[in-house]
Amino acid sequence: MDKRLLTGTMKINKANHLEIGGIDTVSLVEKYGTPLYVYDVSQIKYKVRTFKKTFQDRNIAAQVAYASKAFSCLAIYQLMAKEELSLDVVSGGELYTAIQANYPSKKIHFHGNNKSDSEIIAALDYDIGCFVVDNFHELKKLNEYTIQRKQKVSILLRVTPGVEAHTHDYITTGQTDSKFGFDLNNGQAQQALQSALEMPYIDTMGLHCHIGSQIFETDGFRLAVDKLLTESKKWQELFGFHLRVLNVGGGFGIRYTAEDEPLPIEDYVNNLIDEVQIVSANVQLPMPEIWIEPGRSLVGDAGITLYQVGSQKVIPDVRNYLAIDGGMTDNIRPALYDAKYTGVLANRMEDKIEETYSIAGKCCESGDMLIWDLPLPKADDKDILAVFSTGAYGYAMASNYNRIPRPPVVFVENGQAFLAIKRESYADLMRLECSLY
Ligand SMILES: *Cc1c(COP(=O)(O)O)cnc(C)c1O
Repeated sequence: MDKRLLTGTMKINKANHLEIGGIDTVSLVEKYGTPLYVYDVSQIKYKVRTFKKTFQDRNIAAQVAYASKAFSCLAIYQLMAKEELSLDVVSGGELYTAIQANYPSKKIHFHGNNKSDSEIIAALDYDIGCFVVDNFHELKKLNEYTIQRKQKVSILLRVTPGVEAHTHDYITTGQTDSKFGFDLNNGQAQQALQSALEMPYIDTMGLHCHIGSQIFETDGFRLAVDKLLTESKKWQELFGFHLRVLNVGGGFGIRYTAEDEPLPIEDYVNNLIDEVQIVSANVQLPMPEIWIEPGRSLVGDAGITLYQVGSQKVIPDVRNYLAIDGGMTDNIRPALYDAKYTGVLANRMEDKIEETYSIAGKCCESGDMLIWDLPLPKADDKDILAVFSTGAYGYAMASNYNRIPRPPVVFVENGQAFLAIKRESYADLMRLECSLY
């Protein structure tokens, strides 16, 4: 295996088992069963602190917000609140959970391209820190509600800058075809800004963009910064707009497999700071605060999933299928995005690699495959498969397809395990159901 996948506290212990947070994964499985999501808390803290420290070391006014759609639950909100991060939510449900976690409401930023009336009202009631306004419909509603309530709100305008970054390349598009944000190139962003500046209870602090996900380069971010700062200068001259906050979103890449080469967090942040400093100086604007929104890069590689190996189907000269006791219900990303993962037998870490298996889930879908062609020791049903980097968009996207209960989530740190989310039971599956007879 590629040892670089052993991030954070993960290591191979004397028993030849995978260990995480100072705990043997075999003993975690004995205690909590499989499938099981495990998070390395000190790895999350390390990521959070590295993002924050890189800004602090250069004395840059910044906010790092956890994009909580990557993994949203009470315990992770409590952890992020303790780490003094800001928080992005994208729905009333995430907002509610954050409030249940006593998240300081002024640190909450509300995203989304179709915020409902009740979601807007809840966010106004909680007096959150900022709305990231996505479209004209929302801007109009927010104007009406704030006038009605005589309540001031801060907003950022979400702009589609015509820059899209994806993993190894970025593209600039003329007119961006996206469901999110106000388009910069066709004048809608300017129109939105002009309206917002005239709204009596709305304070437009700045601009937001999010250019993609799993990004391994800094060119895309730099291009987006250039565009937004240049445009802001124009809007300063036209409307007296002061850009106080420049939010460049998230999308910082992580390693899922040996092929992935993410930059160190410091490099993403330093490059960003450099660009904002240089371009603001060039266009003669004061340095805005820099806000970023990492999701995957805070929790992704801190999480692993442990499965019990089950049935095998050997098709001579074609393929060996090895089925595990989970699949697309706990990790939809391979089926949804053709996302790549890798894994190991957690109970036989350094045993000789003898076979190539394709790892199948247990759902009634041919597309329910987690990993194709994974080299492993010869496996049987006493073995535990660990899949790496499942901490982002794993539990968050989990479903009950085929009436499969969702697995539990365990946080580990310094030899201690904490059950953050319980395993769903069959009774839980019936909780919302009404009997017809
Ligand atoms: C999804 C999203 C993020 C986080 O993206 P990651 O790839 O998880 O870092 C940040 N900001 C916005 C607006 C998003 O939609």
